[in-house]
Amino acid sequence: DSAVDALTRLVRDIPDFPEPGIVFKDITPLLADAAGFGAVVRALAATGRDDRGEVVVDKVVGMEARGFILAAPVALALGVGFAPVRKAGKLPHDTHQVDYALEYGEAVLELHRDAVAAGDRVLLVDDVLATGGTAGATCELVRRCGAEPAGFAVLMELGFLGGRSALGDVPVSSLLTV
Ligand code: IMP
Repeated sequence: DSAVDALTRLVRDIPDFPEPGIVFKDITPLLADAAGFGAVVRALAATGRDDRGEVVVDKVVGMEARGFILAAPVALALGVGFAPVRKAGKLPHDTHQVDYALEYGEAVLELHRDAVAAGDRVLLVDDVLATGGTAGATCELVRRCGAEPAGFAVLMELGFLGGRSALGDVPVSSLLTV
């Protein structure tokens, strides 16, 4: 389909970025292509609808920083609001905080306490699922607000890292597994 075609054609591998041994998936050529960008946003947004096309989520959450670029148009396509998950110290109001493991060391992600309401069904959106640390921490932040992570929609999954396991029961929709 056209979303998978766009991903295959317009995401480039950058060897040894941001450090030696990492092959970074660079989505900027995809974002620069209106047809490709539109195709992947429509495909991600489809995960927020049921079989009859009814919207089944109340909010879309995107993770800093590339998640913002995808999650915001997905939220608008679904007719629901958007909330940002950010690295520590960036959000101005009261937050929940979750520590998560990085390859070396750990980091903190935050979500405003009032960003999602208790009982909300929340769709998580990001560009790449690697180890699953970011997505797992974001699920935890949503739960701290009393809301439910209803699904995680991602452009690409690095299958060999097994990041899905960090999501537990939360359904993962990945447009392309590499
Ligand atoms: P994880 O927490 O290890 O699953 O890493 C996922 C996070 O790191 C996501 O927010 C991605 O945006 C980012 N990330 C990891 N690998 C890549 C990559 O190859 N390209 C773009 N982003 C990446």
